[in-house]
Amino acid sequence: MIDIPDDHPRAESLRTRHKIIDGMHKKIVAEAGLIAHGRGEAFDYLIGEKTHDFAIKAIKAAAAMFYLAELPIISVNGNVAVLCPKEMVRFSKEAGIAMEINLFYRSDDRIDAIKNELDKYDPGLILGIDKEHSRMIDEISSLRRVVDKRGIYSADVVFVPLEDGDRTIGLKKNNKKIITVDLNPMSRTSITADITIVDNIIRVFPLLEKEFLAINSKQQASNILDNYDNDSVLKDALKVISSYWDTS
Ligand code: ATP
Ligand code: MG
Repeated sequence: MIDIPDDHPRAESLRTRHKIIDGMHKKIVAEAGLIAHGRGEAFDYLIGEKTHDFAIKAIKAAAAMFYLAELPIISVNGNVAVLCPKEMVRFSKEAGIAMEINLFYRSDDRIDAIKNELDKYDPGLILGIDKEHSRMIDEISSLRRVVDKRGIYSADVVFVPLEDGDRTIGLKKNNKKIITVDLNPMSRTSITADITIVDNIIRVFPLLEKEFLAINSKQQASNILDNYDNDSVLKDALKVISSYWDTS
C-alpha cells in the first residue's frame, strides 16, 4: 500500500481508494468495482464524508429489522470485503447473522480470494461457497442468481450493501425485505430497498452493531420500524446534498 501523509487533506479518502486498488490487484475486487467506488466517493464528497441523522435513522431501523428477522443474511461482495472486513465480521458474530459471498463477476478464484480476506478476522461459517448448497433465484438474471440454500435463498431479510439495482429489484420480487448501504440516494437500489442507509460502508458497521445491541425487546424493535419512513430518509439525504455548498 502506498504511503499517504497524515496531513494530506484527503488522506482518509485516498487510503480508502488504495484499499480498493490493492483489492483489485489481489483479485478480490472486480475491475468494475473501481468504477462503482468512484461513484460512491462522489456522493460521499457531497454529504461532507460524515454520517448524518438520516443515516442514523436508517441504521436504527436496520438494527430493528435484523432483530425481528427469522433468517437475516449479510451479502458480501468484493468491495465490501476489502473496505471493512474486520468490522463486518465483528458485526456478523455479535448479531449472529451469517455472511454469504454473492458476486456479479463470479469466479472460483474471486470467491477464494474473498474468503481468504474474511478468514483473517476469524469469521463463522461463510455461505455461498459450497456448490452442493447452491440454488437459483429466477427473478435475478445475472450470475448473482446463484445463492446458498441456507442463506439468501431462504432468508426473509437480506442486507445488500453497494448493490446493483437489478439484483435488488429481483430480490424484492422474491419477497425479501432489503436493507442496503448506498451513498447515492437516487440509485435504483436506494429507491427499491425497504431501508436505505445513505452513508459510506466504512462508517456503518460499528454504528449498526451499537444500535443492534441496544435493542432488547421485540416491542422496542417493532416501534422503531413502525415509525420509520424510507422515502423521507432519501429526501433528507437529497436535501443535504443540494444544500451542502449553500453558504447564504
Ligand atoms: P443502481 O443499479 O442501483 O441504479 P448504479 O448502477 O448507479 O446503481 P452500481 O454500480 O450498480 O451503481 O452500485 C453500486 C452503488 O454503490 C452505487 O450507487 C454507489 O454510489 C454505491 N457505493 C459505492 N461505494 C460505496 C461505499 N463505499 N459506501 C456506500 N455506497 C457505495
Ligand atoms: Mg447498477
